[in-house]
Amino acid sequence: MAKSKSTNRVEFIAIGSELLSPSFIETNSLFLAEKLEELGLRLSFKTVVSDRLEEIKEVLTVAKKRSRLIFISGGLGPTEDDRTRQAVAEVLNRKLIFHQSILDNIKKRFESRGLVMPASNRRQAYVIDGAEILENPMGTAPGMWLETKNQIFVLLPGPPSELKPMVENLVRPKLEKFRQHQVLRAIIKIAGAGESWVEDQIRPVYRMLPENLELTILAAPGDIQIRLSMLVKVSRKKDLLVFDRIKSKIIGLLGNKVYSTSGESLEEVVGRKLTEMKKTLACAESCSGGLLANRITNIPGSSNYFLEGLVTYSNQAKIRELGVPEKLIREKGAVSQDVAEAMAEGVRRKSGADLALSTTGIAGPGGGTEAKPVGLVYVGLAFPGGVWVEKNLFKGNRDQIKFQTTQKALDMLRLKLMELEEEKGSGQ
Ligand code: ATP
Repeated sequence: MAKSKSTNRVEFIAIGSELLSPSFIETNSLFLAEKLEELGLRLSFKTVVSDRLEEIKEVLTVAKKRSRLIFISGGLGPTEDDRTRQAVAEVLNRKLIFHQSILDNIKKRFESRGLVMPASNRRQAYVIDGAEILENPMGTAPGMWLETKNQIFVLLPGPPSELKPMVENLVRPKLEKFRQHQVLRAIIKIAGAGESWVEDQIRPVYRMLPENLELTILAAPGDIQIRLSMLVKVSRKKDLLVFDRIKSKIIGLLGNKVYSTSGESLEEVVGRKLTEMKKTLACAESCSGGLLANRITNIPGSSNYFLEGLVTYSNQAKIRELGVPEKLIREKGAVSQDVAEAMAEGVRRKSGADLALSTTGIAGPGGGTEAKPVGLVYVGLAFPGGVWVEKNLFKGNRDQIKFQTTQKALDMLRLKLMELEEEKGSGQ
């Protein structure tokens, strides 16, 4: 029986000698921990134990002394080395009871595939006295939910493909009554700003943070995420209000640098906006080498708005495909404001798209000069009535510079779409 101080402890036991070998990774605990966390429950212990009966019983005896909720996975199969049922029954001093209905189901499962059930599967029809059967449509081994006076033992099949749906569909609803906490989460995504700028902006919020609200900033070149997580007691409306107030305050302080508060990527956000606004897009890329078109077309449904993407890497390609004047390249250089402008206008004209992006820059590591260093990138956006070019000085390696280039292009497009939306809204 669990001691009073440990009544709420939750633990997980993975059974299977293969899980102790160098070739298997135990993953059921990760899945379970995630599901438990959603209910505000945290694991205190996890153990991996061999198939040996004595060792399983030893682990169960310890668990029985210290935990309230005990999850056990594996060892429910038909073979001699599947001893979970027997171990739990012996530790709890309960009988194993034969269920004809389970055996019939297993037989049917075999017959439906034109097979005869091997005699060994009969073992799986034994259920610990008092346990509720958890059906397993994905396999032959049923799970069990066993409540004793102070504890609950949940026996689950080992294969993740069987355990996951059983936890999701049968176990989780039963655990709702233990829900004490919930975790409130939010991810605020920001483009077009550095980490220190973001930190400075949101500094006033740090003073407002309650102890149970964790704020972390994940910064990658060109993309910053502010993650909020708050463990709160169920039905405490006050906590929900505090959480929402802080989230809104952060979003307000960062203004239009925030591109998503729902987990969407930048390409998803612009894709959704283009679809809603029925606008089309094309791009002409130099230093991003196709990465921009790749990101745009990673979004299902992008064929509704993306017309074409050209990788015009050489000067000749820029002249031939986009109509960039040769003189312009000679006088200003391929990496220049004017060429970025001409590229965006050229691909917009050629494709007939409403909006067109262009990139030209020096991704490095070689090729930089004092006047035009590695990381110098011009991003252009041609739109009805004009062209907008931004000069950037990105830091990082080649991959990071390419990524930041596409991030900038997508963010400029996002801002332009917002502007067009506002103009339309105000009837201009
Ligand atoms: P059955 O034998 O009927 O498939 P079982 O409940 O007896 O079901 P096990 O024999 O213990 O399950 O495990 C079957 C397979 O499932 C293992 O070989 C392994 O590939 C996988 N497995 C079991 N437990 C885990 C775990 N904790 N994490 C990841 N994979 C697991």
